[in-house]
Parts: sequence; C-alpha cells; structure tokens
Amino acid sequence: MARRRAAAIDAALSSIDDAELIALTRDLVRIPSVFRPGDSTATEAEVARYIERWLGKQGFSVEVHEVAPGRPNVVAWLGDRDGGPSLLLEGHTDVVTEGDPREWTHPPFGAELVDGRIYGRGAADMKSGLAAAMIAGAAIKRSGAELHGRLVVGALADEEGDMLGARHLCTTPLGRELSAAIICEPEQNEVCLEQRGVVWARVLVRGRMAHGAMPEAGANPISAIGALLAEVPALEKRLRRLSEKSRYLKPPTVTPTIVQSPAQGIGQSNVIPSSARLTLDVRLTPGPDGSAVAREIDAACQRAMARRPGVTIEWAPVNGFRLATRVERGEPLVRAVVSAVRRVTGRPARFSGVPGSTDGTILRTTLGIPIVTLGPGNRLIPHQVDEHVEVSELTEAARIYTAAALNFLQP
Ligand SMILES: [Zn+2]
Repeated sequence: MARRRAAAIDAALSSIDDAELIALTRDLVRIPSVFRPGDSTATEAEVARYIERWLGKQGFSVEVHEVAPGRPNVVAWLGDRDGGPSLLLEGHTDVVTEGDPREWTHPPFGAELVDGRIYGRGAADMKSGLAAAMIAGAAIKRSGAELHGRLVVGALADEEGDMLGARHLCTTPLGRELSAAIICEPEQNEVCLEQRGVVWARVLVRGRMAHGAMPEAGANPISAIGALLAEVPALEKRLRRLSEKSRYLKPPTVTPTIVQSPAQGIGQSNVIPSSARLTLDVRLTPGPDGSAVAREIDAACQRAMARRPGVTIEWAPVNGFRLATRVERGEPLVRAVVSAVRRVTGRPARFSGVPGSTDGTILRTTLGIPIVTLGPGNRLIPHQVDEHVEVSELTEAARIYTAAALNFLQP
C-alpha cells in the first residue's frame, strides 16, 4: 500500500508543469483584487471568475458562492467524500492596497519575473499559494490518482477584512464536511502548527463637554484614555501569564492603534470633548478562551474608570474573538504534510508559527478541524512595496501540496 501511494505521488509530481505554474501565478497577480469599499468594480470578482474557469477546465466540480455583493468564494473539488476525509487547500483572492505605485520598483500589477522572483501585490500574499494549490489539484487529476475522500480547493474572498469568505464556507455543506485544511499563506514553506489570535478592542469613552478654561465643569475623556493607556503594560502582562508558553509564537501583545477624540466630529482647541475612542490590537497565543480575555480587558477599563470619576469606558470586539490556534504534531494532517516536505525537499520539515490570524483561524475555531499553514513567500514581505515570491519556493509549495494531499487522501 505504501508503495502504491509512493507511485501515485511520483506520478502526480511529474504531472506538475513549472512553466504553467509560473504563468498562472503571474496571471492572478495581473488581475487586481484590492477590495475598495464603495467601488463596485474593485472586488475579488474578476480574479474569482478566472479561477472558476481555470478549475472548471481542469475537470474540477466548481461552485461559486457570493458572500457579499460582487465578492464570490470559488470552491472546487475532486473525488467523492464517500466515507473518506475531505481536505481543503485554502487561499484568499483579495489583496491589500498597493499604496503609492511610484514607490514600487516593479509595477504592482505587472507580475514582472526578474531573477527568479515574481513581483507584484499579492505575489506572496497569496496568489502564489493559490496558484500552487490549483496546480497541485490539477496535477493529481491529470495523474489519474485515485482519491479516498475529497480534495477541495477554496479561493475565498475577504481574508484581509472580516474573513467573510471563510465564515461563509463554514456554513455550506462542502465546508461543514471538511476534515482538515492546509492554509497556503506565505510562510516560507515552513510547517506552521500555531497561529496567534487577535482581538480588536474598540473602546468608547464618554465624558462631559465643557469650556477648556473651566475644566472642573467637565469630565475629560482624553484623560481617561491616558489612564487606560497606562494600564496597557499591566494588561499585556496578565494576558501573558494566562497564556501557555509557545515554541513558535511571540508572547501576547497589547498595542494601541487608533486614538480619536471627539469620537465623532471635529475637535476644537478650547472645548473638552464629550467622547473619545481607542482601539487596542490584542494579539494572543494559545491558552485563554474568549471570556478570560474579555475579563482582563474589562478589568483594565474598570481600573481606568475608577481613576477618572465622571467618565464611562466601554468596549466591544470589532470582529469577535479570533483566538490563537494550535494543532499537535501527531495529527494525521501534520504527518501528511511533514512526510510531503521530506519527499519533496529531501530535508526534514521546519516547524513554525504564524504571527497573525488567517482564514485558518475561522476554520479551526468554527469547524474544529486541524489546520496547517504552509505556503511560498517570505513571511515579512506581505503588504510591503515590491512584494515578491521566489519561484523556487512557489514550485516547491505546489509539490508539497500535491504529496501532502495524496498522503492524506490515499486509501
Ligand atoms: Zn494572506
């Protein structure tokens, strides 16, 4: 049986055409898919159409689910579940803004291929990972490998925003039947077993308006923001104490990212505003659940409020709680990926962790399935100018996905 699996993997690997993979990645980068609210032409729709057509031509069954106006998920699959497991190779189709194109040496949507690198917005995050997943699926199909279970390729919308695509997938029959997922985000092809979580705590402070010359008549929400900011180091320390030590992740952090007063409208030099807003970007490692994290943020707000009588402080999570995730090395999915890395690279897998959250966070916490994050591209390059991917990592990723999928889905 092991020999048959090895032969199936060999056949599928030899069905990978690197030139086709490079061309596909460049095509995807050339289709801008920055989501710009208010501009109905600036969505994932065009790149999703391309992916839908491409996968259809390869013989995948394809479904398109609109998760928001003009924002489709493309979900394609090979094989029948039929009692077997269902493995997802996942990527997102949206990219972040290119910023000022004049700051780029290579045009952001030119997909230039120079010295073994493909340049462009999304080259690493994550049209290369998506292309590698598509090519892996196509190679398995072309090789005629028999699948025990189902291989799903998901090109989802809105990862950079509210992760609507991943949330929607979890509500569909195809999503609910998943057994495991490989998240093809740029992690230099390291096997990431953990991902940090995130909570954006949006704090609203209400005080009382007054003349700046008579501050005693008001309650200044800005001083309360100051009191709360003074609590941040203690909050961070408490969260670190609640969390397990991780081999792969930096410890929890609490970082103020937005301060605004008044919360609405325009400030005036001689007016104590009635309100202020603060956003804390709270990063988590495995350990505390949502209510434990909420209790700590509550307590920090209470302490700040006690120091500033007359002011109320409340907060809410912007996008709910995206907790940290972890999978164990003994999971069949992890074993399938580790063995694929060894088969393809000839080296043992390097384990690591993802500094932020991904669509995998939603799949792991909503469906409870194991996820591994692994994909081509330097971990630090996403969202920068001159974003790029090394072609050598791209072609390696396609082979790892191919071998991992066959390891996981062979009888
Ligand atoms: Zn990404």
